[in-house]
Amino acid sequence: MPKFCYIHIPFCKSICSYCDFCKLYYNEELVDKYLDALAEEINSKYKNESLETIYIGGGTPSSLNIKQLEKLFKILERLTKSNNIEYTIEGNIESTDINKLKLYKENGINRLSFGLETINKNNLNFLNRTLNIKKVQTIINQAREIGFQNINLDLMYALPKETITDLEKDLDYILSLDIEHISTYSLIIEEHTKIYLEKVKNISEDLDAKMYNYICQRLNTNEYEHYEISNFSKKGYQSKHNTCYWSNEEYYGFGLGASSYIDNERITNTRSINKYLNKEYIKEKEKITSKTKIEYEIMLNLRKNTGIDLKCFKDKYQKELKDLYDYKNLVKNKLLIESNNKLFIPEDKWYISNEIIVRLLGSEINE
Ligand code: SF4
Repeated sequence: MPKFCYIHIPFCKSICSYCDFCKLYYNEELVDKYLDALAEEINSKYKNESLETIYIGGGTPSSLNIKQLEKLFKILERLTKSNNIEYTIEGNIESTDINKLKLYKENGINRLSFGLETINKNNLNFLNRTLNIKKVQTIINQAREIGFQNINLDLMYALPKETITDLEKDLDYILSLDIEHISTYSLIIEEHTKIYLEKVKNISEDLDAKMYNYICQRLNTNEYEHYEISNFSKKGYQSKHNTCYWSNEEYYGFGLGASSYIDNERITNTRSINKYLNKEYIKEKEKITSKTKIEYEIMLNLRKNTGIDLKCFKDKYQKELKDLYDYKNLVKNKLLIESNNKLFIPEDKWYISNEIIVRLLGSEINE
């Protein structure tokens, strides 16, 4: 029974040069039709479970106007919310204002997530993003006054012309805002994006590693817990919603291009707006075998500082992890730590976590 729910609002007022997410240019008429289709999708699939998290992501949900946001919240009244729900909405600073913040608060939103990415003008231009730096502090102050106590900002790094000094300034600025959660993203040049077509090259792996280590060191010394490879939070402010993904939990995903994970099935929605408006929501369904489920369990949990809970693993799969994978050498070489019934990657090896996970999965014991 899913207890977590993602809602996708695909509209953006401008398109970032690196973006390969499911997004569309904002169009007032289209938003209204989209919200009607979204309401029907929710009504046809949701089974009234009590939800521990709802995450309204995008796209840019804050690009919707007040009327459209009111309509969205009306639709989401249909969802049963647990008493201590984490209820997040994403947005950017540019399209957020005090009236929207008040509306969020009135409708139970208790976590805000803003895409800031960088404050460097050249890097913003490269990303095709705008940012009114004076407005950032104003919006954060207004959010605080209204009563929001849980705010996330996204930081992007490893941009082609970025230097460690640029990154240092971005971090100085973000730290000065004293927010609860920071998500970091290293620039990935995805196919079909503007920067891919322009043949932009990644920075060197050495510089990327240096930047990652610098971020970890700065945030750790400023009392942010590094609880997931790319995520940092003050004590008690880990993202419950994203932790559901990293814990391989079931979830609903409603909206264009969203995916759900329910009853050992991954269901991916169409990215075609015409199909979606015609209520042809689903693009594909994939049955998850128990072997694949275990592999996900390993890959996702090892992203967290708490790693895999070996007792929970045994309760869930009726098998000991060590009987399925021979990971002794990885422990011996300190690439994995086994302690207190937990198996995790130490923080100083997170930069090479993919390699460690591949080696762990490759150590499968064939009966
Ligand atoms: S705001 Fe997000 S979804 Fe929209 S274009 Fe930029 S990266 Fe893509």
